[in-house]
Amino acid sequence: MINYINLKKQYIKERKNLLSVIDKTLSTGMYILDKEVDLFEKNIQKYNKSKYCVALNSGTDALTLALYLVGVRKNDEVITTSNSFVASTAVIAHLGAKPIFSDVLPDQNIDPQDIKKKITKRTKAIMPVHLTGRPCEMDEIIYLSKKFGIPIIEDAAQAIGTKYKKKNVGNFGEIGCFSAHPLKNLNALGDSGYLVCNDRKYYEKAKELRNHGLISRSNVKNFGHVSRMDAIQASILNFRLKKLNKIILRRRDNFKIYNNFLDKEKVFFPQEKKYQFNTYHTFVIQTKNRNKLKKYLMKKGIETSIHYPRPIHMQTAYKKLKIKPVNLVNTIQQSKKILTLPINQYLSQSDIRYICSTINNY
Ligand SMILES: *Cc1c(COP(=O)(O)O)cnc(C)c1O
Repeated sequence: MINYINLKKQYIKERKNLLSVIDKTLSTGMYILDKEVDLFEKNIQKYNKSKYCVALNSGTDALTLALYLVGVRKNDEVITTSNSFVASTAVIAHLGAKPIFSDVLPDQNIDPQDIKKKITKRTKAIMPVHLTGRPCEMDEIIYLSKKFGIPIIEDAAQAIGTKYKKKNVGNFGEIGCFSAHPLKNLNALGDSGYLVCNDRKYYEKAKELRNHGLISRSNVKNFGHVSRMDAIQASILNFRLKKLNKIILRRRDNFKIYNNFLDKEKVFFPQEKKYQFNTYHTFVIQTKNRNKLKKYLMKKGIETSIHYPRPIHMQTAYKKLKIKPVNLVNTIQQSKKILTLPINQYLSQSDIRYICSTINNY
């Protein structure tokens, strides 16, 4: 069986190191906001070339805080995409704002031309999602952001290490939001996330709000949340961050094998443009007989997935918001064709060649 993802294998490989990291952190007796969390923030600042980082409990809370910090409030509009993990839209709804969906390009990322059509006086943020680890077309999005004075919040949950024109994602908008969920490329042993920014006032405010709004032990200016990254998760991420570049290179090599051997008459997948550096959080192909192919691959011992089977604008939760229906032609078409193939760092070359030949012979 070729697994789509293999966290047990990661644990077996790292077991000795992880247990010693955990033991060291537990021995300090400091489990909330201590050295390991500070160190993680410094490490990400350096890795992502961002001025500031705030370690949080999830990518979802990073998005919530980010939207709040740039001023998104009740009845405002935020432009984003419908084919994403549900959290990108849920955070907008929780602030009482309206998710407004743009359609996507053939590469599944937000279409800047369609963003332009959806901007109104109420638009308070644009939230591109760097889906699958591929960067969005940031120059065009930044052009719109500047022209209309609308801040950008990047959903970079799937995209740590991803670059657009040699610059790391997360640094293009006001705030960049990342997830360290166990299924992401840089993964904790539970929920974790972080945001990056280059503006000191967002940084200070995010630190305040993640910790009950406490500005000192006994002073609260604004009521906050409990959105801190646990010290134990920070210590694990500090350990794993050292391996991240290797993981990314391995995933990029895996893509190259797919690119060499998959029959492009049978399946479509976007090529990497010269100015993109894709980290392949997932590898998504588009094919006509998706459901049948998925079943066939399962029979042949190849586990696949779909990201995501139902676009958010088709979900009951979205319909309850009573926003006027949108027509997202590309999003709908892609949702019927997309299939995620395994690309994790534990696959062997022959695994991938087997997947390619199985698909080509189907
Ligand atoms: C994983 C993910 C999130 C949410 O991150 P969590 O850490 O699970 O809260 C948000 N957006 C996208 C695109 C994601 O893939």
